[in-house]
Amino acid sequence: MNPIAKLDHQYVWHPFTQMRDWLKREPIVLVEGEGAVVRDLHGREYLDANSSIWTNLHGHRHPKLNAAIAAQLGKIAHTSALGLANEPASRLAEQLVKLANSSVGHSSTASPQQKLPAGHSVPSSPNPLLSKVFFSDNGSTAMEVALKLAYQFARRTPGKSRRGSPTEKRQSASLRRLPRKPKFLSLQGAYHGDTIGAVSLGHIDHFHKSYSDLLFPTDNVMAPYCYRCPYNRAKPERADARTYRKCQWECLDHLEQKFKAQKERGSSYAAFIFEPLIQGAAGMIPQPPGWLGQAAHIARTHGALLIADEVMTGFGRTGGAEKASPAVFACHQEHVQPDFMALAKGLTGGYMPMAATLTTQRVFDAFLGEYDEFKTFFHGHSFTGNQLGAAAALASLDILQRSSSMKSRHLLERTLCNELNGLWHHPIIGDIRQVGLIAGIELVRNWRTREPFYLRQQAGIRVCEAMARAGVLTRPIGNVIVLMPPYCTTPAQIRRIVAALSHALGVLALES
Ligand code: PMP
Repeated sequence: MNPIAKLDHQYVWHPFTQMRDWLKREPIVLVEGEGAVVRDLHGREYLDANSSIWTNLHGHRHPKLNAAIAAQLGKIAHTSALGLANEPASRLAEQLVKLANSSVGHSSTASPQQKLPAGHSVPSSPNPLLSKVFFSDNGSTAMEVALKLAYQFARRTPGKSRRGSPTEKRQSASLRRLPRKPKFLSLQGAYHGDTIGAVSLGHIDHFHKSYSDLLFPTDNVMAPYCYRCPYNRAKPERADARTYRKCQWECLDHLEQKFKAQKERGSSYAAFIFEPLIQGAAGMIPQPPGWLGQAAHIARTHGALLIADEVMTGFGRTGGAEKASPAVFACHQEHVQPDFMALAKGLTGGYMPMAATLTTQRVFDAFLGEYDEFKTFFHGHSFTGNQLGAAAALASLDILQRSSSMKSRHLLERTLCNELNGLWHHPIIGDIRQVGLIAGIELVRNWRTREPFYLRQQAGIRVCEAMARAGVLTRPIGNVIVLMPPYCTTPAQIRRIVAALSHALGVLALES
């Protein structure tokens, strides 16, 4: 075994990994990368088909990103944000605020293809302005910050009369009925990170159950999972389940009922938490067009704040690059503006561990007071506002907004869609779902009945191992294969990725 692999086996404990299995085989040790390609220490090349766990945007060793980090390194790497300001973080906060308000549009202009259920209209509530940025280090802390801010805000706001629009007044009236211990509502299958607060918002049993005694209770509500929805009366077809579903949007009724039931208990939820357009770790589960706008409207009508976890979906991942004013954030594609937006992963182009939580002036103001009132937000990390991360993020945002990047993203999205369409002949594919440059391919024992593979069969793991042997790296979520290429991936590379997947599916079908 290679000496570095030996060191890994001897000393490193890997995340979300059964280490007994890990220790059975020599790991791939990556040493360098360029664009969508990474190289191991034997010189073998792989395509990075999940953007290094959904982080990388523009490819590895991008000259502009490298130069931005090197230039910042020539000045200073890190100073504290406790009591001190710095240039890159201040500039980045300005950029993020601009971006977070520029592409949201108004919900009354929601796209006509959003076929909403009878009795559900396209909402036209005013969008709050996101104006403040709190920096942290990763997706979990970005969500933890949103949660703590929403909690404190909810506790501080009841009873206060505020000026505002009729909608805001209605919201504040509902807020007045909040209990002393604000409650949160998130989606079934939700994953928002690994810190205790973020885990409490999550609802993936086999990740979260083992910590149940440590967690605070949160409520959950049905998420739209068209392929396995009990209300979808359609027989399986060889297409994305969202396109042929037969339902009455019962998932939205469930949401409405949840809010009503909470009201009957004499209170409202402090916040509704969601990943916009597609739930990642839940199994790449996309929402049918129209769901998000309507869900956000229901939550707002019942006085809940909105927390959008854009950790995976942010920075152009969910498509729309072809639009005249492309949405950088997924929730803006449905004209939803949350009260909190959590960003991480792609914030720095996937180069540095940095995260941000954006929120409104209204939330910010609830933390203002005399020093000894202790309304301060008591939360912060040593590396908050790190200069290297902020410099990388500024460079990444610049690349992201270039028309050449938008064009190639759009082309890539179409290429991925075309290539994936060629996979339907595999009988072990149940659903292929794509949102922008995120694709989930759900493997099943029988596509006609949707019968799943048993988890112990490790279908997803086996397919990904076969793909790795063919020079393509990705990581499954149970029986779902994830493809999420960096934006610099070429159409030819996309074809190689999908060909490797097709080959691996053939191997699995033979073995099963
Ligand atoms: N939210 C979402 C939607 C995520 O996908 C993840 C990570 N996969 C997180 C939060 C947590 O991010 P991190 O791993 O950077 O803590």
